[in-house]
Amino acid sequence: MKFAITGGSRGIGAATVLAAVDRGHDVVFTYRSNREAADQIIERAKLIREDVLISAYELDVKRSDKVEAFASFAAEKMGGVDVVVPNAGINRNNLAMSMSDEEWQDVIDTNLSGAFYVVRAFLPELLAQRFGRIIFVSSLSRNGLSGQANYAASKAGLVGLARTIAKEYGHKGITSNVVAPGLIETDMTRENMSDTHHGYWEEYSPSKRMGLPEEVVSAILFFSSEEASFINGTCLPITAGLDWVP
Ligand code: NAP
Repeated sequence: MKFAITGGSRGIGAATVLAAVDRGHDVVFTYRSNREAADQIIERAKLIREDVLISAYELDVKRSDKVEAFASFAAEKMGGVDVVVPNAGINRNNLAMSMSDEEWQDVIDTNLSGAFYVVRAFLPELLAQRFGRIIFVSSLSRNGLSGQANYAASKAGLVGLARTIAKEYGHKGITSNVVAPGLIETDMTRENMSDTHHGYWEEYSPSKRMGLPEEVVSAILFFSSEEASFINGTCLPITAGLDWVP
């Protein structure tokens, strides 16, 4: 299949790129500014398999015009697109009372509007071929998490967006599902989570550990598969059993 993945230069997105390549899928992925990280992913992908297409594209998902250009690039490069993973995301944590307009808007624009722009841009291609798999990356935070009003709102919004796409286009061979990871070891959690949040996780999670990007990827790949054809509009928590955070 042919995968278009945003935010594929690091973390969960990068792990998705490499796993898709490993299974023989063509991949076009995006990075925002870190070209070096994107090049490293391409190098690693080529070591895994030489017979699949892999390409990186610079994109800020907040720019809907650029997202349209990315969709055209991906479809042209691979001769179509089957699987869309709007994974790019950021967090800018603050207590609600202290959160600036800019902190609020940046996170909503990237995580929620960005994912919407991506899906809207790819839908014509998926509809034309009457096949498509869309997998959104939400979060346990969608249920609310202190210090993440912007992030939690964006991640809750993704569930409504995914379920709407599921209902609008399910009869056209398109499925739209959500993975909702808990705390996963990536730059995002290494750089932006407080020791208190890490401590909560280790204390209350049944697993007593953070998850690995690969443990999210397995669900993304399942939702993208032929075998998942009758699964649409679902949200799968990937939290090792933790369903509550302070
Ligand atoms: P990460 O390691 O920080 O990687 C973020 C990726 O998104 C990078 O490839 C980055 O590109 C890209 N990106 C950021 N802003 C962008 C923008 N405006 N336009 C285009 N690309 C942009 O993050 P991660 O932990 O892998 O997170 C991936 C997704 O999983 C996010 O949606 C996140 O909210 C979600 N998630 C993560 C966790 C977790 O615990 N890590 C838990 C639940 C959900 P550059 O490399 O160029 O900066």
